[in-house]
Amino acid sequence: MHLIVAEKNISARRIAEILGEGKKITEHKDAGVSTYTFGDITTVGLRGHVVEIDFEPGYQNWRSEEYTPRSLIDAKTIKVPTEKKIVTLLQKLARKADRITIATDFDTEGELIGKEAFELVRAVNAKVPVDRARFSAITKGDLQHAFANTTELDFALAAAGEARQSIDLMWGASLTRFISLAARRGGQNILSVGRVQSPTLSMIVDREKEIEAFVPEKYWQLDLDTEKSGERIEARHTHGRFHDKAEAEGARDRTKEPLVVTEVKEGTKQDRAPSPFDTTTYIVAAARLGFSAANAMRIAEDLYMNGFISYPRTDNTVYPASLDIEGILTTLRTSPFKKDVEWTIAHRRPVPTRGKKSTTDHPPIHPTSPATREQLGDDVFKIYELVLRRFLATLAPDAVWKTLKILFVAGGEEYTTTGGQLIEPGWHAVYPFSEAKEVVLPAFSMGESLPLKKITLDEKETQPPARYTQSKLIQRMEELGLGTKSTRHEVIAKLVSRKYVEGNPLRPTLVGRVVTESLEQHADTVTRPDMTQTIEAHMQQIKESKRTREDVIRESREMLHKAFDQLEKNELVIGDDIRNRTAEEMNLGKCPVCGGMLAIKHLRGNTQFIGCSHYPDCSFNIGLPMAQWGFAVRTDDICGKHQLNFVRLVRKGARPWDIGCPLCHHIDSNRESLSEMPSMTPALADTILRHHIYTVAELARSKPEDLAQRLVIPAADAGRLVDEAGTVLEKLRRRSECRKFLRDRLIPRKGRSYAKIMEVLKGQGITELAALAHAEPEVLKNAGICEAEASQVLADARTVYYGRVLRVMGIPAVSLKKYLAAGFTTPDAFCKLKPETLSERTGMSLSTVQKHVALVCKALNKPAPKKTSKLQTEKGRKELLTIKGLGEQAAENLILAGVTDGKSLLAADPKAVARDTGIPEQKIRDYQALYRKKKEIIEL
Ligand SMILES: [Zn+2]
Ligand SMILES: [Zn+2]
Repeated sequence: MHLIVAEKNISARRIAEILGEGKKITEHKDAGVSTYTFGDITTVGLRGHVVEIDFEPGYQNWRSEEYTPRSLIDAKTIKVPTEKKIVTLLQKLARKADRITIATDFDTEGELIGKEAFELVRAVNAKVPVDRARFSAITKGDLQHAFANTTELDFALAAAGEARQSIDLMWGASLTRFISLAARRGGQNILSVGRVQSPTLSMIVDREKEIEAFVPEKYWQLDLDTEKSGERIEARHTHGRFHDKAEAEGARDRTKEPLVVTEVKEGTKQDRAPSPFDTTTYIVAAARLGFSAANAMRIAEDLYMNGFISYPRTDNTVYPASLDIEGILTTLRTSPFKKDVEWTIAHRRPVPTRGKKSTTDHPPIHPTSPATREQLGDDVFKIYELVLRRFLATLAPDAVWKTLKILFVAGGEEYTTTGGQLIEPGWHAVYPFSEAKEVVLPAFSMGESLPLKKITLDEKETQPPARYTQSKLIQRMEELGLGTKSTRHEVIAKLVSRKYVEGNPLRPTLVGRVVTESLEQHADTVTRPDMTQTIEAHMQQIKESKRTREDVIRESREMLHKAFDQLEKNELVIGDDIRNRTAEEMNLGKCPVCGGMLAIKHLRGNTQFIGCSHYPDCSFNIGLPMAQWGFAVRTDDICGKHQLNFVRLVRKGARPWDIGCPLCHHIDSNRESLSEMPSMTPALADTILRHHIYTVAELARSKPEDLAQRLVIPAADAGRLVDEAGTVLEKLRRRSECRKFLRDRLIPRKGRSYAKIMEVLKGQGITELAALAHAEPEVLKNAGICEAEASQVLADARTVYYGRVLRVMGIPAVSLKKYLAAGFTTPDAFCKLKPETLSERTGMSLSTVQKHVALVCKALNKPAPKKTSKLQTEKGRKELLTIKGLGEQAAENLILAGVTDGKSLLAADPKAVARDTGIPEQKIRDYQALYRKKKEIIEL
């Protein structure tokens, strides 16, 4: 068997479809992992890296005395499988293979993934020949060429990737642990530091500081309006910016009619067609269409995997001679852009445009096959169109603009206006994404006099430098050699998810800034780009086999040890500094009760809430959902009513949950429960709010006399309020118990959130366990719960609820356990069944059972069951068994539920019996009908 190993499942499938064209392709699933077989060839997809490097065991404990953060620098690493099923399958296939071709992506990362696969293969099959297929597009031509010309794995290239992995792990783990421990942060709250991440963050912080330090300067701008052939034309004073107001005003005052045209300068300007896309220019162009860097890359990778465009991670801006441009154009003729493709073919420039960077790995990003909007969906199609049109533009002729510059003089002051008109649209005909706009001016002649319509003197201010947009930042990172084409967008996404930066354009958060400044002050190698650049240069040397991986890692270790020398010396200062400065980011504003400072507090175990700085003197607090629903942070918005910062819950990979003003939220979420108190009027609700009482619990806790004094109401009224609050609180407690009960038993699925289930149940009046215990399965089914699950939940509810009822009636806990275990779950059973049966089934003595029966029946206000002889019991049982289809088990269940003979069967409520026995209601009705019929026959 010839085994082909691709980087992902989707590429494995595409490779099989293309190479196996015309043959039958069989998909086979092994533990959820697909393989595709045609003839003697099988393809299998990895999931990118299927192993990862980690430290040897022992380094996981952050607080270990032995393994300090610094010890991570020299810690040994191991490779651990992250995708066990794929690893197992790959090795299973490798044992049987007689040839293996690695067909992972063609770049450093892909080479490393290939090497990882190679090592897994070698571990189980020492002899099988392994070769490497390299291609830049998953298309027929590229794949056939690649598989006909396979080569060896490039171990030097893979080693460069491995070195990067080791160095990233070493820097990231040791520094993150050091800074987090110094600042006493853990769990969700750690402060991450990274080899590329930290210098990038530092750039964003520096820009913010420049902006803050910027002192705007005033300047004045002088414009006039005139008119020609009914068209309004604006001209600007040739002095440009006036920095002196008096000077600008003088020029304005001297500007008087006649306004005469003194010069008409016509010219033409070549407008070169754009160069081919590399990753960075592609991300910049996609950003103009509104795509974030990470999104643009995700879509491009998707298009690549599906064979629509070439590999999107490339530094190359020159089409290689081997690229079949004619072939691509011919293919694209069947795309929705047929017209543009044909226009390009008809107007092709002799040589395609070229950019500054020519590398040998991948061609620039270009389309490889036609696609339609229906196939891709709107967003993906937009990106496909961008890549396709860019490709056409690089083959299209330059554009030519006619330029026009007019000079006017009025009262000795000179003004000018310019126009531009596309006379040969060239590449603009196929690439509408450029920013150049036409400004068409009417014809002017020398000496012509024009009306002076308006003079405007605008006062303006110089602007600070702009914040980085994601795409600008990626460009800047590229210039500085920070990260690679494959990782830059991921680094930015990481900074956002770590809450170091926010918004687009990007601005640092307080934590981002504090951590950066601390590092800059105490270990600036970590934040300066030169460290990263050095390492990138070393990677290059490994790729070219000029240095070994071990050598480079050793040097990096030394660098990091030096940084730690500085850091460890200043550990206390760094910790205090970060803690003091970041505490502020959790402050929300004044406590409404005492005027102290309200702040978000994060405790161990995911608990978070808003508390007051005057605690314990002031106990005001606002509960928040657990941190697994989102880590609470402050936002810049401020409530107009309460002057408090808004709160937001952020969770990785989920849309943030905006709580808004925490006090408004607090008031709103308590309004409903307060209104359940019978005496609560809107006016009273206002009064208690004014006195800073927000919850039913606070009312219930109050002493009536204190409350009377605080609200200035009669003591009797206050007493009633406290009582009512107590009642509502108990109801709320039971409701939340019911919610928790359901939450513990139901897994949320699409379309059935707890909120939705509770909503449906509430509509049926079921908000407490007692009601749930008596509910019909239909009600739960309406809430999207399947039948089996519903009957289980209801049975549980009955056990829990009746168990509690029986305890209250006086059954001791130990006995209760025995009853429940024997299947007696309802108080009813005690009054229906004979004590002998109970005693027999539970193993408890008859006298004990009789005592219990008496207790329960008294509580239910029912007579205790009549005594029946053993003979009678047996007779009743036989009676039941005569019914067709009613077997031993069913009879047993019926007897337990108090249906002891034919007579009691006829008298029973089928619904109730169904609930107690688990036998479907219809079946019970059938038994009843059958028995009735039988009885009638006998009686006849
Ligand atoms: Zn307070
Ligand atoms: Zn508010």
